[in-house]
Amino acid sequence: MRIAIFSDIHGNLEALQSVLKYIEEAGITNYICGGDMVGYGANPNECVDIVAALDCPVVMGNHDHAALGLTDITYFNPTARSALLWTREILTEERSRFLKSLELIYQANNLFLVHASPHHPEQWEYILSLESAETNFGYFKEQICFIGHSHQPFFVMLTPERNVELITENPLHIQENFRYIINVGSVGQPRDGNANSSLAILDTKEKTVSLIRIPYDIEKAQEKIINAGLPHSLAHRLANGW
Ligand code: ZN
Repeated sequence: MRIAIFSDIHGNLEALQSVLKYIEEAGITNYICGGDMVGYGANPNECVDIVAALDCPVVMGNHDHAALGLTDITYFNPTARSALLWTREILTEERSRFLKSLELIYQANNLFLVHASPHHPEQWEYILSLESAETNFGYFKEQICFIGHSHQPFFVMLTPERNVELITENPLHIQENFRYIINVGSVGQPRDGNANSSLAILDTKEKTVSLIRIPYDIEKAQEKIINAGLPHSLAHRLANGW
């Protein structure tokens, strides 16, 4: 079985459509979504609708949470904050109801999914170092944990000798007695210097996880952000993937 795991769409309809087209053309019919369907981009309602229609496991992201008014957004930077306030205005009640229904974690078939960190799912911590990855391996029991949140894709493994290591091979080969934290990157606002959308494909038969990059119509997404009256920096950053 192959499963597409994607996260951090952030209202970028063009990016989401390209990613889903790739998944469909690859013949993959299983999906998992790591949250943050809204915030930053110009099409939050449309992105929520598309993800809801996939009828797949979805966890709550910090921007989804904040769009519902459940998070104090004073800790958001000014740009993220103004995008959030815009999103709150435009998000319909029906879409809010869908976001409200989401859980913070999903666990099944030896997989764990959380938007930010297994340690404190509700505190939206970032896993940006091997030290924090090591801590987090203690807070889930499944072999693989998929995350999003930082918009920076990576593979980290815990060896049977309890060493925590960054893996640069792609695809990653899943080994018995090893455990993994995998950041699937961002569909709608990559921040690793590569402007293409990011997602992961888990192949349970081949025992691999591939990180894939998909180009999309960035100019169209930028134009919509500017026309919506959102901060221009949110449009500009899409072009260079930061
Ligand atoms: Zn995000």
